[in-house]
Amino acid sequence: MKGYAMLKIGQSGWIEKGRPACGPLDAICKPLAVAICTSDIHTLWEGAIGERHDMILGHECCAEVVEVGADVKDFKPGDRVLVPAITPDWNSLEAQAGYSMHSGGMLAGWKFSNFKDGVFSEFFHVNDADGNLALLPKNINVVDACMLSDMVPTGFHGVELADVQFGDTVLVIGIGPVGLMSVAGTNMRGASRIIAVGTRPVCVEAKKYGATDFVSYKNGPIFQQVLDMTDGKGVDKVVIAGGGVETFAEAVKCLKPGGKIGNVNYLGSGDNIDIPRVEWGVGMGHKQINGGLMPGGRLRMEKLGALVSAGKLDVSPLSTHVFDGWDHLEEALFLMRDKPKDLIKPVVKLAD
Ligand code: NAD
Ligand code: ZN
Repeated sequence: MKGYAMLKIGQSGWIEKGRPACGPLDAICKPLAVAICTSDIHTLWEGAIGERHDMILGHECCAEVVEVGADVKDFKPGDRVLVPAITPDWNSLEAQAGYSMHSGGMLAGWKFSNFKDGVFSEFFHVNDADGNLALLPKNINVVDACMLSDMVPTGFHGVELADVQFGDTVLVIGIGPVGLMSVAGTNMRGASRIIAVGTRPVCVEAKKYGATDFVSYKNGPIFQQVLDMTDGKGVDKVVIAGGGVETFAEAVKCLKPGGKIGNVNYLGSGDNIDIPRVEWGVGMGHKQINGGLMPGGRLRMEKLGALVSAGKLDVSPLSTHVFDGWDHLEEALFLMRDKPKDLIKPVVKLAD
């Protein structure tokens, strides 16, 4: 089979590989559509998870099942499925402890294009199919379905990590596709005011998803602008979905005492994160910093899929660049690296 791989840090291309084997609990699937993620860019060009040789990239797709193992109960060949970017081993101790995304070790629930071949391939392997796949609702098209692999679950996880409550004032730093979904999730959780940090034309989309105010990080420190907008009080919660290690100091400065930060940003470079001593209440300010990988798995896919299926969440504005066929995959990947101003997500359709 053909797959589009990271050959080494900074180099990618099509390679030929054997079709993966299907264990008793597994499924083999073929993608119906795939989406490119900023994480693919961090992995391939920044070497953020270290060197990988001939590893097929990609972890966002929806798919058709082509083969299932003898012990798979709920899926069969021909089923169209949602596929989470994170596919935990559900019988692991980490999953039993509530941290399925770290099943088998730190971040090890993230298998596609990390510890094994990803989904930019004619066929790919899914571990624990009953625990990780979800049937694709009939009224969700294959392009929108790709947004459920990672963008919706990650953006919403930022909201969970920040513990957004009714009436909160929330700052969302970074409004790429993940941040836009954090704005949408924050709005659904009942925030009264949502301040979004961003400059690109996607601000228009952020407004539709519920952002009430905008700040540009190009106009000086975020915290000064946010403190000015809130009569010096700051915000209850911060979701971080963009920027670098320096955004944590900004976030801490923006928070009220007792506030919480939810980070889902993948920090691709830098050795340390600075926490400003004084604004962190000289160690006693009750300002929590939570960072996490999105939870994957079937239940999460079914529930988030139900939001889209029921018309409560419209993910269609995210897919700004849709291509037809594998021939356009490289173009889509390079587009995500170069991020033209009007880009939110590139998607490659392989079927209807
Ligand atoms: P993106 O690059 O499209 O969006 C990030 C946004 O942040 C951009 O709009 C950019 O202009 C903005 N930004 C850059 N510097 C900034 C700064 N200093 N202050 C404020 N905003 C700034 O990325 P995305 O696809 O939306 O993903 C966001 C992050 O989430 C990426 O790092 C991605 O790798 C990561 N991610 C994490 C998980 C997870 O499970 N935790 C899953 C998927 C993606
Ligand atoms: Zn992703």
